[in-house]
Amino acid sequence: MTLLDPRTDQDAPIPIVPSFVRDAWWSPAPDTLTDAAIQAVLDASTGRRVASVSSEGVDLAGMVDYARTVGQASLGGLTFHQRAMLLKELAQYLGGVKEELYALSAQTGATRFDSMIDIDGGIGVLFTFSSKGRREMPNSQVYIDGPAESLSRDGSFLGQHIYTRLPGVACQINAFNFPVWGMLEKFAPAFIAGVPSIVKPATPTGYLAEAVVRHILASGILPDGALQLVSGGARDLVDHLDYRDLVAFTGSASTARVLGAHPNVVQGGVRLTTETDSLNAAILGTDATAGTPEFDAYVASVVTEMTAKTGQKCTSIRRLIVPAGRMEDVVAAVTERVGRRVRIGDPRAEGVTMGPLASPEQLREVRSSASRLVAGGGRVVLGSLDAPAGTDADGAFMEPLLLAFDDPEAEAVHEVEAFGPVASVFEYRDLDHAVTLAALGGGSLVATVATHDPLIARALVLGIAAHHGRVLVLDRDDAKTSTGHGSPVPHLVHGGPGRAGGGEELGGIRAVLHHMQRTAIQGSPDMLTAITGEWHAGAAVDTAVHPFRKSLAELKVGDRVEAGPRTVTADDIAAFAASTGDTFYAHTDAEAAAANPFFPGIVAHGYLLVSWAAGLFVDPAPGPVLANSGLENLRFVTPVSPGDSIRVALTAKRITPRETEEYGEVRWDAVLQNQNDEIVATYDVLTLVAKDA
Ligand code: NAP
Repeated sequence: MTLLDPRTDQDAPIPIVPSFVRDAWWSPAPDTLTDAAIQAVLDASTGRRVASVSSEGVDLAGMVDYARTVGQASLGGLTFHQRAMLLKELAQYLGGVKEELYALSAQTGATRFDSMIDIDGGIGVLFTFSSKGRREMPNSQVYIDGPAESLSRDGSFLGQHIYTRLPGVACQINAFNFPVWGMLEKFAPAFIAGVPSIVKPATPTGYLAEAVVRHILASGILPDGALQLVSGGARDLVDHLDYRDLVAFTGSASTARVLGAHPNVVQGGVRLTTETDSLNAAILGTDATAGTPEFDAYVASVVTEMTAKTGQKCTSIRRLIVPAGRMEDVVAAVTERVGRRVRIGDPRAEGVTMGPLASPEQLREVRSSASRLVAGGGRVVLGSLDAPAGTDADGAFMEPLLLAFDDPEAEAVHEVEAFGPVASVFEYRDLDHAVTLAALGGGSLVATVATHDPLIARALVLGIAAHHGRVLVLDRDDAKTSTGHGSPVPHLVHGGPGRAGGGEELGGIRAVLHHMQRTAIQGSPDMLTAITGEWHAGAAVDTAVHPFRKSLAELKVGDRVEAGPRTVTADDIAAFAASTGDTFYAHTDAEAAAANPFFPGIVAHGYLLVSWAAGLFVDPAPGPVLANSGLENLRFVTPVSPGDSIRVALTAKRITPRETEEYGEVRWDAVLQNQNDEIVATYDVLTLVAKDA
């Protein structure tokens, strides 16, 4: 069959958006498809057909198999840091093709500002994960979780939690509202973990995701099998998955329920995380009266959230919870700001600040939900359900709509999500009531608390926190610098309990770990060292050559220097106190020190001992060690008195070559002991070491 643009008589066929399957582009031959198998996608402003979509015949089983074999093998050849570097290259590459993506994005109804949230936001996620992957993960394929647990008296049997990547595929099913950000925020952590992705964008805006995938592949940056794309319905994708795989879903609660009931999820162990809808609240503090900076920031945030992406954000503010007697002020201020700042129209037209909804179906859906809110007790106090004046009748345009509820407990306002520029306002009696009302949302992604009063902030935040994934405390100090109520940031978790889906995405390295299995490994220190690549206390050491004389290429974990002893005198302690000014009584006043339950009398400064340890273990001549970049986890265990002596053992514990530098980081295990073999202090020394001597 030939696919014609229904709005024009032109006979140019509208091509079917292809899928990327087993490292090749694929689309069904149009003449093999019935009309019912093809979905037409329309320009949100004009109703003109811009894409045809069908996943009929796509080899989903083959895609899963390809990811588990080719994708797993190619990603398995890279370390966390190498994958993270590729993400950075990808982010830079995509930054160069943004203009083309903005043009496509405008067809979805997005203004330039909306497109930036989606496209630049998505690219930003790649940058952040690249940087966090390199800073917070080792340059290897095993992520160590927490310290080793000693499981025997003599230290010969240890336990260590590790994370290794899932052996399957990450299927990423996204909602229509963020075709780019939604895809990249799921892809980035899966990629760093080393798990191949099958991306399934929502049909109404999937053509934009397809354009991004096309650029990603054209860049040649990704290894084979790392990314595949299903354009069109997911069909029987989940039938082909098992416990090795995960599904990360964003969309409606009803689709989440369908996925959650799939036998492969219920019985087969497929990991499913769901991000669904959410009736996010913004609570105005009792202190935030009209004219305060908090009131102004609150109103600005409400209007932004109602209109950015035309309110089609899972994080948009839906419920304005304001103090008793303040509804009128809030409605007036929101009305004034909307009137001043919102111009509805085709986002390609000059001066337009709010585009249409993504499709006529969405418009129908939002109008129907808004009508349910009205039927449930909402009075329209701003906007209307009619098409805005002067807009194309074929576009999915809608005015910002604010509804006032006299009954703050009306069921509809806590039940119905109108996924568009729609919000409701109602009043609370006191802070406890505000908390109760916020919780009636049944679990939300995010809430804002606008107050400058720390006591109000604490009461509200601690009251609502467990009902939310994120809480923004908005006041005069952060109003300008805040990233905003509606913007999930890659550093912080995104997701919420209950109605919000119960899932968790982003949150820095946490998101990478969602794509990995945590396993408790038990064994001897030597075995744990061999398995993890990190030296464990009690494992073999090599003291033959001073490790500061070895380049990063020569250094091995377990290389050690032992030095000392050095005896501490009362004069040493007095001199250190005098030169540093640290004359704390435990170092200077014998009587006061003896009265302290922790000290036998005057004791040496901990920092004196750490400084001496450096003097003992250092090899001073110029060599591969470039700098001491820090010290972590310092613990003083046993006090040292005049007459005691200390010695130190410094052992290379973790070696992290940097991908883009001529040096790497070496983490050393430092242990100070006294003449009785008691542990005096433990810590990690961080150094930068040249790759070659
Ligand atoms: P949706 O209809 O549930 O669709 C979401 C995705 O699921 C689409 O890719 C859809 O594909 C796919 N899908 C539908 N049925 C499926 C099935 N049986 N098996 C596998 N996949 C299936 O939701 P939407 O209309 O795109 O998005 C709007 C909703 O998403 C709103 O409720 C909003 O609150 C929520 N949302 C939540 C978040 C969050 O982070 N929590 C973010 C954005 C949106 P097709 O398009 O091909 O049908």
